[in-house]
Amino acid sequence: MTFTVLTIFPEMFSALLVGGIVKRAIEDERVSVESINIRDFAKDTHRTVDDRPYGGGSGMVMKPEPMAEAIRVAKKRHPEAKTLLLTPQGRRFNQAVAQELAGCPGVVLVCGRYEGVDERVREHLVDDEVSIGDYVLTGGELAAMVIIDAVSRLIPGTLGSEDSAQEDSFSAGLLEYPQYTRPSSFEGADVPDVLLSGNHGAVKEWRRRASLVRTVLNRPDLLMDHPLTPDDMAYMKKLQQDIETIIDKNSITP
Ligand code: SAM
Repeated sequence: MTFTVLTIFPEMFSALLVGGIVKRAIEDERVSVESINIRDFAKDTHRTVDDRPYGGGSGMVMKPEPMAEAIRVAKKRHPEAKTLLLTPQGRRFNQAVAQELAGCPGVVLVCGRYEGVDERVREHLVDDEVSIGDYVLTGGELAAMVIIDAVSRLIPGTLGSEDSAQEDSFSAGLLEYPQYTRPSSFEGADVPDVLLSGNHGAVKEWRRRASLVRTVLNRPDLLMDHPLTPDDMAYMKKLQQDIETIIDKNSITP
């Protein structure tokens, strides 16, 4: 999988080589990250990539010509790749989008700066627009790195164990269950007995239920479109009954 990043700050991407799984994936040649400096396509001696907005207003806008040339070079190098513009106005990036991108032969990530890019780039030169969340960054580079990280770990062989990606939060539509490691007792807090029992069936059931409870408490929205199993439903109904009983017992009758 090749990520081609279009940016005026290519040096920022050296951060991916500092350590961790993405660095290893690059060294193992499962992933490659190349950058194209948009400034190399500026025509003037100052290598200008931005200009004032038509109609006035604060800030500068990225000029279309250097961006268009940079995108065309990237597309020529990787004709099968999907070209994404990073923008807070785009489709929200999540685990499902990460899965989708992991199936692409390559991804071109176009990083804006200043007040963003000329609208004609968005309209005519990219396949999709992606946002990493409802907040505004100063540039697309950190968003591109988030996407590279999240997609890289889904590429087969990148993680030590394929299972670890499948059980991650969001992969199965639920948040992941709580994780523990040694020591079994830490500052008075003990690991749940079931995890020390060696009973794989009981551990599996505990984890599923813990995932359900955690998702209900932290992200109930995820459960709205997630198909629950009959066991999940039975467990949720039992919880509901227990909660109703507790509420009834604690209700103050006038
Ligand atoms: N004026 C733009 C707007 O309101 O939509 C925001 C421009 S932002 C300051 C500069 C660049 O940062 C954008 O062109 C985009 O590439 C990137 N960016 C900012 N927030 C982002 C987000 N949440 N997701 C992806 N990219 C983002």
